[in-house]
Amino acid sequence: IGGYVGFDTIPTQIERKLLRRGFAFNVMLVGATGLGKSTLLNTLFAAHLIDSKGRFKVNEPPRQTTEIAPVTHHIEENGVRLKLTVIDTPGYADLMNNEHCLDPILKYIKDQYAHFLRKELTAARERYITDTRVHCVLFFINPSGQSLKPLDIVALRQLADICNVVPVIAKADSLTLDERAAFKARIKEEIEYHGIKLYPGQLQVPEPLDEYDLQEQALTDAIRARIPFAVVGSERTIVVGGQPVRGRRTKWGGVIEVDNEDHCEFTHLRNFLTRTHLQDLIETTALHYEAFRTRQLLALKE
Ligand code: GDP
Ligand code: MG
Repeated sequence: IGGYVGFDTIPTQIERKLLRRGFAFNVMLVGATGLGKSTLLNTLFAAHLIDSKGRFKVNEPPRQTTEIAPVTHHIEENGVRLKLTVIDTPGYADLMNNEHCLDPILKYIKDQYAHFLRKELTAARERYITDTRVHCVLFFINPSGQSLKPLDIVALRQLADICNVVPVIAKADSLTLDERAAFKARIKEEIEYHGIKLYPGQLQVPEPLDEYDLQEQALTDAIRARIPFAVVGSERTIVVGGQPVRGRRTKWGGVIEVDNEDHCEFTHLRNFLTRTHLQDLIETTALHYEAFRTRQLLALKE
């Protein structure tokens, strides 16, 4: 159940060359402890992270994440090779009112840019630079149903300045569908109000629109309407109508199925990450990197 990830549909999207040598995709998870980051990772990439006996693979970091822990998985689906690195982070904001709590995370992201830049400058003939740049930060929002915390606003802004950030409403099963919709609208308003420019569309250069641009724009608009994805993670199965499904029992006595689109937006998030937006996340990261490089090279000249 849930073993198939779906990135093998990418051949239609991505350069052949890149496909042959395999490509890297690096996802980072940020948010307070206990919001279900590690669980969601395992739900997203289940079959690849957990062995057949349901144990974590030996190279898995300890369950309680205490440091930024990149773990790389070489996975292959129908001949398409992907080097997937998931970067779990310790709960930022565990220390209350610590305005520097995001610093190690921001440093990690910038360090990857700096590493890439050094490689670019010194090894011009190197045909392929290992790409450790963070292509997507999943930002976990506490399902309070109220509003974003001031610290969330600060963090979203700092992250959005340097990379692709996609917020998710964590543990969405703790909210009713109505509460979820209201919370989502509230979060969007706040992000808008604070002028935070999130992926996708944040770096788009206005250009004359042709047919293709219009299609892209429609896809972008649809995804923007969906974000933040209200997600539920679970590593367990529950029997529903005689069938095992990945899900959780709710406090109302029902079952929320992770993979059921009527229950939560987990499948939307997975499709977004591994099918519809994987290549764009990689390309947009190159733009964030360009901005970083420009700043670095200007600083060198001074
Ligand atoms: P992390 O600290 O952010 O990595 O959180 P964990 O993934 O370790 O999860 C913390 C606790 O929340 C565990 O007991 C999980 O079983 C539980 N949990 C994870 N995801 C969900 C979810 O979507 N809904 C609910 N209700 N609980 C969850
Ligand atoms: Mg964790």
